[in-house]
Amino acid sequence: YTGKSSTQLLSASLKKFHVKDFQSLPAVIDESVSVYEAICKMFLDDAGTLFIVNQSNELVGVCSRKDLLRATMGGQDIHTTPVHVIMSRMPNIAVVFPDDLLLYAANLLIDREIDSLPVVVPKGKAFEVTGRITKTTITRAFVALIEDE
Ligand code: ADP
Repeated sequence: YTGKSSTQLLSASLKKFHVKDFQSLPAVIDESVSVYEAICKMFLDDAGTLFIVNQSNELVGVCSRKDLLRATMGGQDIHTTPVHVIMSRMPNIAVVFPDDLLLYAANLLIDREIDSLPVVVPKGKAFEVTGRITKTTITRAFVALIEDE
């Protein structure tokens, strides 16, 4: 008997999972909106991370729950402070492409200690955001792995 071990089978199916098959819709806001509006957007979209774009719709940053909490504690006026002042910014943003392996995205979430990755496509020298991969995405894929057996 020379069948594959269950570990080999599992890693074979994992390598069939690509970002584009699991990505969900991103929560995106313009860099000029206020911290207050960013918080509203986070509640309305039920998102843990917002992707921030400029007027040309290019990715310029990321804003997490704790970034917004920090901004509310800092004493700045959340109604007048634009979100681009408090966001994490390019080029230090971890991104994935639609054709990347989901396993690569999962490793990136762990290595960078973050909850969410924008799925991007090149737009000149910049990136356009077309989706998101979050820890929830990875949990969903984990379940799909078992159910696909
Ligand atoms: P939280 O800060 O709410 O715990 P995260 O762990 O995702 O959420 O974010 C930690 C920090 O990393 C934040 O300052 C956030 O702006 C930043 N961050 C989140 N996602 C990314 C990303 N894809 N690339 C770079 N930095 C990110």
